[in-house]
Amino acid sequence: MLRLAIQKSGRLSEDSLKLIRECGITFISSSLKLKTESTNFPLEILYLRDDDIPGYVADGVADIGIVGENVLVEEGMQALAVEQLGFSKCRLSLAVPKADEYSDITDLEGKNIATSYPNLLQSYLQEKGVQAHIHTISGSVEIAPSIGLADAICDIVSSGSTLISNGLKEVERVFKSQAVLIANENLNADKKQILEKLLFRIHAVQRAQKAKYILLNTPNEKIAEISRLLPGAKSPSILPLAEEGWSSLHSVVNEDDFWEIIEKLKDAGAQGILVVPIEKMIV
Ligand code: ATP
Ligand code: ZN
Repeated sequence: MLRLAIQKSGRLSEDSLKLIRECGITFISSSLKLKTESTNFPLEILYLRDDDIPGYVADGVADIGIVGENVLVEEGMQALAVEQLGFSKCRLSLAVPKADEYSDITDLEGKNIATSYPNLLQSYLQEKGVQAHIHTISGSVEIAPSIGLADAICDIVSSGSTLISNGLKEVERVFKSQAVLIANENLNADKKQILEKLLFRIHAVQRAQKAKYILLNTPNEKIAEISRLLPGAKSPSILPLAEEGWSSLHSVVNEDDFWEIIEKLKDAGAQGILVVPIEKMIV
């Protein structure tokens, strides 16, 4: 049995549970419970505050966990990271009141900066050779300048709308973050094996998220040209259509590449293009 710690309720919770479910692991989740056991995979899920997850995994109370890199690095536990998961993407940024003049980081010399991430901020300032007073507060950082607590803040930003609504502007990006899977460094052989199985499934889910299945109709004489336009496809499948001289071509494309090549495919004579999601992808 492997114990996984995830955030009980917050910005990591939903996507963490979604990833586990997409891995085919079923369990009954209840917001009132502190732990649940999967019915079809040797996994137990613990619901915790995100800040506690690295410590619990380091101590072996949980075997693995899902946490933001911002929290992991802030707590000095980057050694536990196993895999970036691609969700809960955000950044830790410095912001100042909108009306303040700001040209570069040296403007923060000697200033008061409020943050919940003193270590990440301190190492950024040190790297830039700037000395400032860091005030560690645990929440509502964005209101610190308006109540006279600080000249600037260093906080998590994703769209930037919270900053704007608090009369602030983003001036420096301190750290880029996303959710990571972390693991205790001394897992026994049984647990390691379960983790390998879980990682195999996570990789299949991640690959499928980027890939799309593409089907299109092409005149036979254009098959070679169209195949060349489909990057990443080792070798497309080609099926004859009932209509003489036409074929259906099936392949896998990266969604980002697809938008680049759609016009070229049409110019080359492709018709009836269908792009469909892939649920799992094993290579
Ligand atoms: P807890 O009650 O568990 O301590 P919290 O309030 O500290 O929760 P959340 O706001 O739920 O934490 O954020 C959890 C993590 O999600 C953050 O550490 C960060 O990695 C990521 N995150 C935070 N804000 C955003 C955002 N706006 N968009 C995407 N990811 C975010
Ligand atoms: Zn937290």
